[in-house]
Amino acid sequence: MHAIVQLSCVTGSTKYYIDRLLDPEERSRLGVLTGLGRTGQHSLEVPGCLLYTHFGTVPHLTQDTLHTLSDLPSVTQVTLSHVAEHQEVLEEFKDGFRKFAGLHDTVLYCALHDPAAACPTGYTTNKTVSVWGSGGRIELTVAKFMALQKTVQPDWYQSMADGETWQSNTSRKRVRKSVDRTLAHLDECLLEHQKSQELEGVAVFGVVEGGDILEERIRSAKETAKRPVAGFCLDGFQTGCMEQALRTQLITAVTKELPEDKPRLLQGVGRPDEVLACAEAGVDLFESFFPFQVTERGCALCFDYDVSPDPERAVLELEENRETAVVAQQNGDLNLDERTQMTSFEIDLKDKRYQDDFRPLVEGCGCYCCKNHQRAYLHHLLVTNELLAGVLLMIHNTAHYLGFFRALREALAGDKLDLLKRQVLREGGRQTERKD
Ligand SMILES: [Zn+2]
Repeated sequence: MHAIVQLSCVTGSTKYYIDRLLDPEERSRLGVLTGLGRTGQHSLEVPGCLLYTHFGTVPHLTQDTLHTLSDLPSVTQVTLSHVAEHQEVLEEFKDGFRKFAGLHDTVLYCALHDPAAACPTGYTTNKTVSVWGSGGRIELTVAKFMALQKTVQPDWYQSMADGETWQSNTSRKRVRKSVDRTLAHLDECLLEHQKSQELEGVAVFGVVEGGDILEERIRSAKETAKRPVAGFCLDGFQTGCMEQALRTQLITAVTKELPEDKPRLLQGVGRPDEVLACAEAGVDLFESFFPFQVTERGCALCFDYDVSPDPERAVLELEENRETAVVAQQNGDLNLDERTQMTSFEIDLKDKRYQDDFRPLVEGCGCYCCKNHQRAYLHHLLVTNELLAGVLLMIHNTAHYLGFFRALREALAGDKLDLLKRQVLREGGRQTERKD
């Protein structure tokens, strides 16, 4: 049903194979980005996610531990807010960020902001954007931004952008200004990029802004698509900023304006229900900060995404887990605290009920944590503040999240997306019941 079509080359040796569903109304895409990285030997399946890191490290995990996981994304995300305050050291080091951070062979993507950290507004000007490192605010001009990219030596980077219009009460005038500024930043970055030998073969992702105003979103998408960019970052859609129905409507309108042959990366959205809706609206790539947030609150991902199994076992397991889940977004109120609130896709292992629960976090999970430890042991580690709790939870949560993306691709390939949605969103239905 889904014939693989090769679309045009974008940058250097990069080729994108996108398998479009035959129904033109379908926006979801299935495919593989190939020829990635300086040597072109990497590929990445879409819909998929990037590997979330703090300064090149997946929080809590060493490179060795990380590489015990299967299906690891071939693209590692590093954030300029973490890198900017070490610019001088990196310049002195000379060999680029990948080597500095001791990364295995990977495609390196440099983003502007950390999706898991709050980003204060009110600091963007016509000439600068600000990022927040551990030592506070760092103001970036285009010259400083581009100097940083030359130091980091990524394979892909996000262009500078004025992303301060995610709040729903932002005025039309401010949103228009944000789109104009972001395009101006992109033009300046591209000009500097084309003059730079160090950045030859490096791909620039243009940023689509526009807040919650449809016409501005479309204008931003159309104008960005005219520039020589290799892909698109969809900004200002992060969890807590808008309801999913509006997000889906805006993303659908945006992706219609974008060329089919270039990847679309959605920033700040990680919850499984939101990922499914956004992939259906035409998003290819997501940031994988969600398992980190779940780990930081002492929780374990336990939602079910198995659509080809023994359905009886899956349902039983799920019913039981759900009893412990907190209902997110109880009154439909939107707020940014939602980003750090427990969701219905996880269980809280600090809860006393797990102190004598001798089952693995998820029955049948093949990760190191589930193969070697029980919920009771994790409960003990959490209540005694042992650092190992974060390590084991991060192993499981990352493995579970990557498994979810694999299931999403398999569901698209096997025409089972509706089944997967029902499986994953079952909790959502219960939330509605409770609200009523
Ligand atoms: Zn596990």
